[in-house]
Amino acid sequence: MNVAELILKKRDGFALAETEITFLIEGYTAGRIPDYQMAAFCMAVFHRGMTAEETLCLTRAMLRSGSVLDFSSLPGLKLDKHSTGGVGDKTSLIIAPLVAAAGAYVPMISGRGLGFSGGTLDKLESIPGFTVQLPLPRFRAVLEQVGCAMIGQTEQIAPADRKLYSLRDVTATVESIPLICASIMSKKLAEGLDGLVLDVKTGAGAFMPTLEQASDLAQSLVDIGNCLGTQTVALITDMNQPLGKAVGNTLEVQEAIETLKGSGPQDLALLCEKLSSRMLSLTAESAEAGRARTRVAEALSSGRALEKFAQMVEAQGGDPRVIDNASLLPQAALREVIASNSTGFVTGVNARSVGRASMALGAGRETVDSRIDPSVGILLNKKIGDRVEKGEPLCTVFYNQAAKFESVRQPLLEAFAIDPDRVEPPPLIKRLVE
Ligand code: URA
Repeated sequence: MNVAELILKKRDGFALAETEITFLIEGYTAGRIPDYQMAAFCMAVFHRGMTAEETLCLTRAMLRSGSVLDFSSLPGLKLDKHSTGGVGDKTSLIIAPLVAAAGAYVPMISGRGLGFSGGTLDKLESIPGFTVQLPLPRFRAVLEQVGCAMIGQTEQIAPADRKLYSLRDVTATVESIPLICASIMSKKLAEGLDGLVLDVKTGAGAFMPTLEQASDLAQSLVDIGNCLGTQTVALITDMNQPLGKAVGNTLEVQEAIETLKGSGPQDLALLCEKLSSRMLSLTAESAEAGRARTRVAEALSSGRALEKFAQMVEAQGGDPRVIDNASLLPQAALREVIASNSTGFVTGVNARSVGRASMALGAGRETVDSRIDPSVGILLNKKIGDRVEKGEPLCTVFYNQAAKFESVRQPLLEAFAIDPDRVEPPPLIKRLVE
Protein backbone atom coordinates (compact mmCIF):
# COMPACT_ATOMS: atom_id res chain seq x y z
CA MET A 1 0.00 0.00 0.00
CA ASN A 2 1.15 3.51 -0.74
CA VAL A 3 0.67 6.18 1.95
CA ALA A 4 0.41 9.09 -0.50
CA GLU A 5 -2.36 7.28 -2.39
CA LEU A 6 -4.31 6.74 0.83
CA ILE A 7 -3.99 10.43 1.70
CA LEU A 8 -5.20 11.30 -1.80
CA LYS A 9 -8.15 8.90 -1.50
CA LYS A 10 -9.28 10.58 1.72
CA ARG A 11 -8.50 14.06 0.38
CA ASP A 12 -10.85 13.38 -2.54
CA GLY A 13 -13.64 12.28 -0.21
CA PHE A 14 -13.56 8.49 -0.57
CA ALA A 15 -13.95 6.03 2.29
CA LEU A 16 -10.94 3.92 3.28
CA ALA A 17 -11.12 0.18 3.89
CA GLU A 18 -10.24 -1.33 7.27
CA THR A 19 -6.97 -2.77 5.89
CA GLU A 20 -5.96 0.69 4.68
CA ILE A 21 -6.71 2.37 8.03
CA THR A 22 -4.91 -0.38 9.94
CA PHE A 23 -1.91 -0.02 7.61
CA LEU A 24 -1.73 3.72 8.36
CA ILE A 25 -2.07 3.34 12.14
CA GLU A 26 0.37 0.42 12.42
CA GLY A 27 2.87 2.18 10.19
CA TYR A 28 2.66 5.45 12.08
CA THR A 29 2.93 3.83 15.52
CA ALA A 30 5.97 1.82 14.43
CA GLY A 31 7.65 4.93 12.99
CA ARG A 32 7.52 3.75 9.36
CA ILE A 33 5.14 6.57 8.35
CA PRO A 34 6.53 10.05 9.06
CA ASP A 35 4.70 12.86 10.88
CA TYR A 36 4.30 14.95 7.71
CA GLN A 37 2.30 12.24 5.95
CA MET A 38 0.16 11.53 9.01
CA ALA A 39 -0.45 15.27 9.45
CA ALA A 40 -1.69 15.46 5.85
CA PHE A 41 -3.92 12.46 6.46
CA CYS A 42 -5.41 14.05 9.61
CA MET A 43 -6.10 17.26 7.70
CA ALA A 44 -7.82 15.25 4.95
CA VAL A 45 -9.99 13.57 7.62
CA PHE A 46 -10.66 16.96 9.20
CA HIS A 47 -12.08 18.27 5.92
CA ARG A 48 -13.69 15.14 4.48
CA GLY A 49 -14.80 13.38 7.67
CA MET A 50 -15.15 9.63 8.00
CA THR A 51 -18.07 7.23 7.73
CA ALA A 52 -19.27 5.48 10.88
CA GLU A 53 -17.57 2.31 9.61
CA GLU A 54 -14.24 4.11 9.02
CA THR A 55 -14.38 5.71 12.50
CA LEU A 56 -14.98 2.29 14.01
CA CYS A 57 -12.00 0.83 12.09
CA LEU A 58 -9.80 3.73 13.16
CA THR A 59 -10.77 3.25 16.81
CA ARG A 60 -10.14 -0.50 16.60
CA ALA A 61 -6.73 -0.01 14.98
CA MET A 62 -5.72 2.55 17.64
CA LEU A 63 -7.03 0.35 20.46
CA ARG A 64 -5.01 -2.60 19.11
CA SER A 65 -1.82 -0.52 19.01
CA GLY A 66 -1.47 -1.29 22.74
CA SER A 67 -2.72 -3.60 25.49
CA VAL A 68 -6.30 -4.04 26.61
CA LEU A 69 -6.49 -4.45 30.38
CA ASP A 70 -8.27 -7.49 31.71
CA PHE A 71 -10.01 -7.12 35.06
CA SER A 72 -12.46 -9.97 34.42
CA SER A 73 -11.26 -11.83 37.52
CA LEU A 74 -12.51 -8.99 39.76
CA PRO A 75 -15.95 -9.90 41.11
CA GLY A 76 -18.06 -6.95 39.99
CA LEU A 77 -18.81 -4.53 37.19
CA LYS A 78 -15.95 -2.46 35.82
CA LEU A 79 -17.28 1.01 35.05
CA ASP A 80 -15.89 4.37 34.08
CA LYS A 81 -16.94 7.89 33.21
CA HIS A 82 -15.20 10.19 30.77
CA SER A 83 -15.77 13.89 30.35
CA THR A 84 -14.84 15.79 27.19
CA GLY A 85 -13.41 18.51 29.42
CA GLY A 86 -14.57 21.74 30.94
CA VAL A 87 -13.99 24.40 33.56
CA GLY A 88 -14.40 23.47 37.23
CA ASP A 89 -15.21 19.87 36.30
CA LYS A 90 -13.96 17.84 39.27
CA THR A 91 -16.62 15.13 38.91
CA SER A 92 -14.09 12.28 38.43
CA LEU A 93 -12.66 12.85 41.93
CA ILE A 94 -16.13 12.36 43.38
CA ILE A 95 -17.56 9.72 41.05
CA ALA A 96 -14.72 7.18 41.21
CA PRO A 97 -14.97 6.67 45.01
CA LEU A 98 -18.76 7.10 44.95
CA VAL A 99 -19.32 4.33 42.40
CA ALA A 100 -16.72 2.12 44.13
CA ALA A 101 -18.58 2.62 47.42
CA ALA A 102 -21.77 1.55 45.64
CA GLY A 103 -20.13 -1.78 44.75
CA ALA A 104 -18.51 -1.48 41.30
CA TYR A 105 -14.85 -1.19 40.24
CA VAL A 106 -13.65 2.04 38.66
CA PRO A 107 -10.32 1.70 36.82
CA MET A 108 -9.92 5.32 35.73
CA ILE A 109 -7.19 6.46 33.35
CA SER A 110 -7.33 10.24 33.11
CA GLY A 111 -5.65 13.14 31.41
CA ARG A 112 -3.92 16.41 32.24
CA GLY A 113 -5.35 19.85 31.62
CA LEU A 114 -4.41 21.65 28.45
CA GLY A 115 -5.46 25.17 27.60
CA PHE A 116 -8.40 26.57 29.55
CA SER A 117 -9.83 23.22 30.59
CA GLY A 118 -8.59 21.48 33.72
CA GLY A 119 -7.30 17.92 34.07
CA THR A 120 -8.03 15.29 36.71
CA LEU A 121 -4.37 14.29 37.12
CA ASP A 122 -3.29 17.85 37.93
CA LYS A 123 -6.03 18.10 40.55
CA LEU A 124 -5.04 14.83 42.19
CA GLU A 125 -1.37 15.83 42.23
CA SER A 126 -2.18 18.82 44.42
CA ILE A 127 -2.66 16.27 47.23
CA PRO A 128 0.82 15.97 48.84
CA GLY A 129 2.46 12.66 47.89
CA PHE A 130 -0.30 11.47 45.54
CA THR A 131 1.12 9.67 42.52
CA VAL A 132 -0.76 9.18 39.26
CA GLN A 133 2.08 7.17 37.73
CA LEU A 134 1.46 3.68 38.99
CA PRO A 135 2.80 0.68 37.07
CA LEU A 136 -0.09 -1.43 35.79
CA PRO A 137 0.33 -4.22 38.42
CA ARG A 138 0.11 -1.60 41.19
CA PHE A 139 -2.91 0.04 39.49
CA ARG A 140 -4.58 -3.35 39.55
CA ALA A 141 -3.67 -3.92 43.20
CA VAL A 142 -5.16 -0.56 44.27
CA LEU A 143 -8.27 -1.25 42.21
CA GLU A 144 -8.66 -4.65 43.84
CA GLN A 145 -8.06 -3.35 47.36
CA VAL A 146 -10.04 -0.08 47.22
CA GLY A 147 -12.48 -0.45 44.31
CA CYS A 148 -11.15 2.57 42.44
CA ALA A 149 -7.78 3.79 41.21
CA MET A 150 -6.89 6.86 39.16
CA ILE A 151 -3.77 7.04 37.01
CA GLY A 152 -2.37 8.78 33.92
CA GLN A 153 -1.82 7.35 30.48
CA THR A 154 0.81 4.64 30.24
CA GLU A 155 3.02 3.61 27.32
CA GLN A 156 1.04 0.37 27.04
CA ILE A 157 -2.40 1.95 26.50
CA ALA A 158 -3.22 3.08 22.93
CA PRO A 159 0.30 4.27 21.99
CA ALA A 160 -1.05 5.27 18.56
CA ASP A 161 -3.20 7.94 20.24
CA ARG A 162 -0.29 9.29 22.25
CA LYS A 163 1.61 10.02 19.02
CA LEU A 164 -1.38 11.07 16.99
CA TYR A 165 -2.80 13.41 19.63
CA SER A 166 0.49 15.33 19.93
CA LEU A 167 0.57 15.64 16.15
CA ARG A 168 -3.06 16.85 15.95
CA ASP A 169 -2.40 19.36 18.70
CA VAL A 170 0.16 21.18 16.53
CA THR A 171 -1.50 20.73 13.13
CA ALA A 172 -4.95 22.25 13.82
CA THR A 173 -6.66 18.87 13.50
CA VAL A 174 -8.05 18.38 17.01
CA GLU A 175 -11.67 19.42 16.36
CA SER A 176 -12.63 16.55 14.09
CA ILE A 177 -15.39 14.24 15.34
CA PRO A 178 -13.95 10.98 13.91
CA LEU A 179 -10.46 11.79 15.21
CA ILE A 180 -11.78 12.80 18.66
CA CYS A 181 -13.93 9.67 18.84
CA ALA A 182 -11.13 7.30 17.94
CA SER A 183 -8.78 9.09 20.35
CA ILE A 184 -11.12 8.98 23.35
CA MET A 185 -12.56 5.53 22.75
CA SER A 186 -9.26 3.79 21.94
CA LYS A 187 -8.06 4.78 25.44
CA LYS A 188 -11.30 4.15 27.33
CA LEU A 189 -12.00 0.77 25.72
CA ALA A 190 -8.47 -0.35 26.67
CA GLU A 191 -9.55 -0.22 30.34
CA GLY A 192 -11.45 -3.51 29.95
CA LEU A 193 -14.79 -2.01 30.99
CA ASP A 194 -18.31 -3.40 31.19
CA GLY A 195 -19.83 0.05 30.95
CA LEU A 196 -18.89 3.63 30.16
CA VAL A 197 -20.77 6.90 30.69
CA LEU A 198 -19.64 9.89 28.66
CA ASP A 199 -20.19 13.43 29.85
CA VAL A 200 -20.13 15.49 26.67
CA LYS A 201 -19.93 19.17 27.53
CA THR A 202 -21.53 21.89 25.48
CA GLY A 203 -21.45 25.68 25.78
CA ALA A 204 -18.90 28.49 25.95
CA GLY A 205 -16.43 26.49 28.06
CA ALA A 206 -16.58 23.31 25.97
CA PHE A 207 -14.79 22.45 22.79
CA MET A 208 -18.14 21.51 21.20
CA PRO A 209 -19.94 24.85 21.80
CA THR A 210 -23.30 24.01 20.18
CA LEU A 211 -25.79 21.34 21.23
CA GLU A 212 -25.83 19.96 17.67
CA GLN A 213 -22.06 19.47 17.56
CA ALA A 214 -22.08 17.93 21.03
CA SER A 215 -24.94 15.59 20.04
CA ASP A 216 -23.09 14.43 16.91
CA LEU A 217 -19.96 13.74 18.94
CA ALA A 218 -21.94 11.97 21.66
CA GLN A 219 -23.79 9.74 19.18
CA SER A 220 -20.58 8.78 17.46
CA LEU A 221 -18.85 7.95 20.79
CA VAL A 222 -21.84 5.94 22.00
CA ASP A 223 -22.12 3.97 18.74
CA ILE A 224 -18.45 3.07 18.81
CA GLY A 225 -18.54 1.96 22.46
CA ASN A 226 -21.60 -0.22 21.89
CA CYS A 227 -20.22 -1.68 18.62
CA LEU A 228 -16.99 -2.65 20.33
CA GLY A 229 -18.75 -4.43 23.20
CA THR A 230 -18.85 -1.85 26.02
CA GLN A 231 -22.29 -0.61 27.12
CA THR A 232 -22.04 3.14 26.52
CA VAL A 233 -24.35 6.12 27.01
CA ALA A 234 -23.69 9.85 27.00
CA LEU A 235 -25.16 12.78 28.86
CA ILE A 236 -24.80 16.16 27.19
CA THR A 237 -24.26 18.67 29.98
CA ASP A 238 -23.98 22.41 30.29
CA MET A 239 -20.59 24.11 30.25
CA ASN A 240 -21.68 27.72 29.71
CA GLN A 241 -20.78 28.57 33.30
CA PRO A 242 -18.15 26.67 35.34
CA LEU A 243 -19.32 23.58 37.24
CA GLY A 244 -19.52 24.16 40.99
CA LYS A 245 -17.77 27.18 42.45
CA ALA A 246 -14.07 26.24 42.45
CA VAL A 247 -11.69 26.51 39.49
CA GLY A 248 -8.02 25.63 40.11
CA ASN A 249 -6.41 22.48 41.43
CA THR A 250 -6.29 22.78 45.25
CA LEU A 251 -9.62 24.60 45.28
CA GLU A 252 -11.24 21.86 43.20
CA VAL A 253 -9.89 19.08 45.44
CA GLN A 254 -11.34 20.93 48.43
CA GLU A 255 -14.69 21.25 46.69
CA ALA A 256 -14.66 17.56 45.70
CA ILE A 257 -14.05 16.61 49.35
CA GLU A 258 -16.89 18.90 50.48
CA THR A 259 -19.16 17.23 47.92
CA LEU A 260 -18.19 13.78 49.20
CA LYS A 261 -19.08 15.06 52.68
CA GLY A 262 -22.50 16.10 51.36
CA SER A 263 -21.94 19.86 51.46
CA GLY A 264 -20.80 20.62 47.90
CA PRO A 265 -22.46 23.00 45.44
CA GLN A 266 -25.82 21.81 44.22
CA ASP A 267 -25.03 21.62 40.48
CA LEU A 268 -21.86 19.61 41.07
CA ALA A 269 -23.53 17.22 43.51
CA LEU A 270 -26.46 16.71 41.15
CA LEU A 271 -24.29 15.96 38.13
CA CYS A 272 -22.18 13.48 40.13
CA GLU A 273 -25.30 11.70 41.34
CA LYS A 274 -26.76 11.51 37.81
CA LEU A 275 -23.55 10.28 36.19
CA SER A 276 -22.92 7.74 38.98
CA SER A 277 -26.41 6.28 38.87
CA ARG A 278 -26.21 6.07 35.06
CA MET A 279 -22.95 4.13 35.42
CA LEU A 280 -24.53 1.69 37.87
CA SER A 281 -27.63 1.13 35.75
CA LEU A 282 -25.81 0.64 32.44
CA THR A 283 -25.65 -3.11 32.25
CA ALA A 284 -28.39 -5.72 32.39
CA GLU A 285 -27.12 -6.87 35.80
CA SER A 286 -28.19 -3.64 37.47
CA ALA A 287 -30.86 -2.45 35.13
CA GLU A 288 -33.12 -0.65 37.57
CA ALA A 289 -32.35 3.05 37.51
CA GLY A 290 -34.24 3.68 40.76
CA ARG A 291 -32.15 1.17 42.68
CA ALA A 292 -28.95 2.66 41.28
CA ARG A 293 -30.01 6.10 42.53
CA THR A 294 -30.64 4.68 46.00
CA ARG A 295 -27.25 2.94 46.05
CA VAL A 296 -25.53 6.20 45.10
CA ALA A 297 -27.44 8.20 47.72
CA GLU A 298 -26.57 5.65 50.41
CA ALA A 299 -22.90 5.48 49.41
CA LEU A 300 -22.75 9.24 49.87
CA SER A 301 -24.87 9.71 53.00
CA SER A 302 -23.22 6.81 54.87
CA GLY A 303 -19.77 8.38 54.41
CA ARG A 304 -18.54 5.27 52.53
CA ALA A 305 -17.74 7.29 49.39
CA LEU A 306 -15.57 9.67 51.41
CA GLU A 307 -13.90 6.67 53.07
CA LYS A 308 -13.12 5.19 49.63
CA PHE A 309 -11.59 8.50 48.58
CA ALA A 310 -9.36 8.45 51.69
CA GLN A 311 -8.35 4.84 51.01
CA MET A 312 -7.49 5.62 47.39
CA VAL A 313 -5.45 8.69 48.38
CA GLU A 314 -3.49 6.62 50.89
CA ALA A 315 -3.01 3.66 48.52
CA GLN A 316 -1.62 6.03 45.87
CA GLY A 317 0.89 7.62 48.26
CA GLY A 318 -1.10 10.73 49.18
CA ASP A 319 -1.77 12.27 52.57
CA PRO A 320 -5.37 11.41 53.55
CA ARG A 321 -5.31 14.01 56.34
CA VAL A 322 -6.18 16.61 53.63
CA ILE A 323 -9.76 15.39 54.02
CA ASP A 324 -10.10 16.98 57.44
CA ASN A 325 -7.40 19.59 57.12
CA ALA A 326 -7.50 21.49 53.83
CA SER A 327 -4.53 23.64 54.91
CA LEU A 328 -2.31 20.63 54.11
CA LEU A 329 -3.04 21.27 50.42
CA PRO A 330 -0.82 23.85 48.65
CA GLN A 331 -2.11 27.32 49.60
CA ALA A 332 -1.82 30.55 47.61
CA ALA A 333 -0.12 33.39 49.47
CA LEU A 334 -2.60 36.07 48.39
CA ARG A 335 -6.30 36.45 47.71
CA GLU A 336 -8.48 39.28 46.48
CA VAL A 337 -12.12 39.69 45.53
CA ILE A 338 -13.46 41.02 42.24
CA ALA A 339 -16.44 43.18 43.16
CA SER A 340 -19.47 43.93 41.03
CA ASN A 341 -19.77 47.34 39.37
CA SER A 342 -23.54 47.16 39.34
CA THR A 343 -26.62 45.81 41.05
CA GLY A 344 -28.83 43.19 39.39
CA PHE A 345 -28.85 39.48 38.61
CA VAL A 346 -26.04 37.37 37.21
CA THR A 347 -27.20 36.19 33.77
CA GLY A 348 -23.92 34.68 32.57
CA VAL A 349 -20.53 33.53 33.87
CA ASN A 350 -18.37 32.84 30.82
CA ALA A 351 -16.71 29.51 31.55
CA ARG A 352 -14.04 29.98 28.91
CA SER A 353 -12.98 33.36 30.35
CA VAL A 354 -12.85 31.94 33.89
CA GLY A 355 -10.83 28.95 32.62
CA ARG A 356 -8.42 31.26 30.79
CA ALA A 357 -8.02 33.45 33.88
CA SER A 358 -7.28 30.42 36.04
CA MET A 359 -4.70 29.29 33.50
CA ALA A 360 -3.12 32.77 33.43
CA LEU A 361 -2.76 32.64 37.24
CA GLY A 362 -0.73 29.44 36.76
CA ALA A 363 -3.34 26.73 37.34
CA GLY A 364 -3.20 25.43 33.76
CA ARG A 365 -0.61 24.88 31.08
CA GLU A 366 0.01 26.65 27.79
CA THR A 367 2.01 23.70 26.44
CA VAL A 368 2.29 20.09 27.56
CA ASP A 369 5.61 20.91 29.31
CA SER A 370 4.43 23.94 31.36
CA ARG A 371 4.62 23.60 35.16
CA ILE A 372 1.44 24.37 36.99
CA ASP A 373 0.88 26.06 40.34
CA PRO A 374 -1.62 23.89 42.27
CA SER A 375 -2.46 26.61 44.81
CA VAL A 376 -3.92 29.28 42.52
CA GLY A 377 -7.43 29.60 41.15
CA ILE A 378 -10.81 31.26 41.40
CA LEU A 379 -13.80 30.74 43.68
CA LEU A 380 -17.08 31.95 42.27
CA ASN A 381 -19.15 33.86 44.81
CA LYS A 382 -22.01 34.26 42.33
CA LYS A 383 -23.46 32.09 39.59
CA ILE A 384 -26.27 32.47 37.05
CA GLY A 385 -29.57 33.44 38.72
CA ASP A 386 -27.94 34.99 41.82
CA ARG A 387 -28.72 38.53 42.94
CA VAL A 388 -25.70 40.81 43.31
CA GLU A 389 -25.38 44.27 44.86
CA LYS A 390 -22.87 46.83 43.61
CA GLY A 391 -19.61 46.27 45.54
CA GLU A 392 -20.42 42.65 46.44
CA PRO A 393 -17.84 39.98 45.48
CA LEU A 394 -18.45 38.17 42.20
CA CYS A 395 -15.46 35.91 42.68
CA THR A 396 -12.34 35.51 44.83
CA VAL A 397 -8.94 35.11 43.19
CA PHE A 398 -6.20 33.03 44.86
CA TYR A 399 -2.77 33.96 43.52
CA ASN A 400 0.95 34.18 44.20
CA GLN A 401 2.09 36.91 41.80
CA ALA A 402 0.52 40.37 41.77
CA ALA A 403 1.18 40.88 38.04
CA LYS A 404 -0.76 37.72 37.23
CA PHE A 405 -3.67 38.90 39.36
CA GLU A 406 -3.65 42.27 37.56
CA SER A 407 -3.77 40.49 34.19
CA VAL A 408 -6.99 38.64 35.11
CA ARG A 409 -8.84 41.37 37.04
CA GLN A 410 -10.64 42.94 34.05
CA PRO A 411 -11.30 39.70 32.10
CA LEU A 412 -12.85 38.18 35.23
CA LEU A 413 -15.05 41.21 35.81
CA GLU A 414 -16.18 40.98 32.18
CA ALA A 415 -16.85 37.24 32.50
CA PHE A 416 -19.93 38.09 34.60
CA ALA A 417 -22.99 39.41 32.77
CA ILE A 418 -25.29 41.38 35.11
CA ASP A 419 -28.78 42.46 34.10
CA PRO A 420 -31.80 43.97 35.86
CA ASP A 421 -33.96 40.89 35.13
CA ARG A 422 -33.35 37.50 36.67
CA VAL A 423 -32.83 34.44 34.44
CA GLU A 424 -33.05 30.80 35.54
CA PRO A 425 -29.75 28.90 35.61
CA PRO A 426 -29.43 26.83 32.39
CA PRO A 427 -30.50 23.17 32.71
CA LEU A 428 -27.46 21.13 33.69
CA ILE A 429 -28.36 18.02 31.74
CA LYS A 430 -29.45 18.80 28.22
CA ARG A 431 -29.82 15.43 26.55
CA LEU A 432 -29.30 11.71 26.98
CA VAL A 433 -27.73 9.91 24.02
CA GLU A 434 -27.93 6.12 23.93
N1 URA B 1 -9.67 14.17 24.39
C1 URA B 1 -8.98 13.13 23.85
O1 URA B 1 -8.55 12.23 24.54
N2 URA B 1 -8.79 13.14 22.51
C2 URA B 1 -9.25 14.10 21.70
O2 URA B 1 -9.06 14.02 20.51
C3 URA B 1 -9.95 15.18 22.28
C4 URA B 1 -10.15 15.18 23.63
